[in-house]
Amino acid sequence: MRVVVDRCVRWVPRFATIASPRLAAVLFAVCVSVIGSRAAAKIDSAALGAEASSVLLVTFDTVRADRIGAYGYAAATTPTIDGLAARGVLFESALSATPTTLPSHASILTGTYPSAHGVHDNGVFALERDAVLISEVFRQRGFRTAAFVGTYILDASFGLDQGFETYRGPASTLEFRMHAARRSADEVVDEAISWFEQLDRGERFFVWVHFYDPHRPLPERDASGRKIEDPYDAAIGSCDRELGRLLRFLDARGLGENLLTVVTADHGESNGEHGEATHGIFVYQSAMRVPLIFSGGPLAGREGVRIDRAVTNTAIAPTLLKLAGLPPAQKRRRFCCRA
Ligand SMILES: [Zn+2]
Repeated sequence: MRVVVDRCVRWVPRFATIASPRLAAVLFAVCVSVIGSRAAAKIDSAALGAEASSVLLVTFDTVRADRIGAYGYAAATTPTIDGLAARGVLFESALSATPTTLPSHASILTGTYPSAHGVHDNGVFALERDAVLISEVFRQRGFRTAAFVGTYILDASFGLDQGFETYRGPASTLEFRMHAARRSADEVVDEAISWFEQLDRGERFFVWVHFYDPHRPLPERDASGRKIEDPYDAAIGSCDRELGRLLRFLDARGLGENLLTVVTADHGESNGEHGEATHGIFVYQSAMRVPLIFSGGPLAGREGVRIDRAVTNTAIAPTLLKLAGLPPAQKRRRFCCRA
């Protein structure tokens, strides 16, 4: 399987240099579709503990796996994520289905590729109302559901709010200003904590928290005016600190017991590699390889497990349902492109 992934990642970008980058992206999507459909079935679920009481899905925007301490980064700013990995299951070779924010999150929440869910880019596509999100399955099964996102790119108007009784993000703007409408991780966590405070102890929940801070443009100076040495690492560190604050709150409220926490990113960041400043066109590992860590819940007895098999982020949705003891979502498939 690793060989297949390596060949995808090696040859498709080469094709992009001699043909169309967008065509290359389509080829890569087909490639990872094959990988994902095989890899998802190989996530070993034998000998699990009791099903998760609740699920916390955390997506970091624009975070490369190799900038996380648990993935070997020496200058890491991620003690919270590293701690989750030390007490959980880490996937060494997790790939995003697509290097763009809205389509990737649609894949995470539906467990399908853009060819099936129909969301191919930010801003001009919306997930159709007949799509099946895991948030809908959780809610139908009596879980309390809420989402707190950091960017207008994931605004409720783009369809990811389905199944969430509460869905909060930056205020929508009449003028389409995707990158201007954002909020920081501390605001996201403040709002999530406010929601959790009204939750009755014992209520099961599925909550999605999204941090946008690592996405450009990044601040070059801190609040006191000092120059930030590495703005990208600093932004990842801010999110990690806020995730830690949220997890400590949940523990203090008694909501962390048998909680399954999943941490991933929607895509990476090229940071100038291969001639790409950010992400969204090429499909090199710099933009496609993401962290993927499951921790707690029924995996509590599997501390520090590292899995080398390749997976894509379409495997997250069915895995979360399984670990929470719920049946698979009924997927609809379409193979057309609608704006
Ligand atoms: Zn993104």
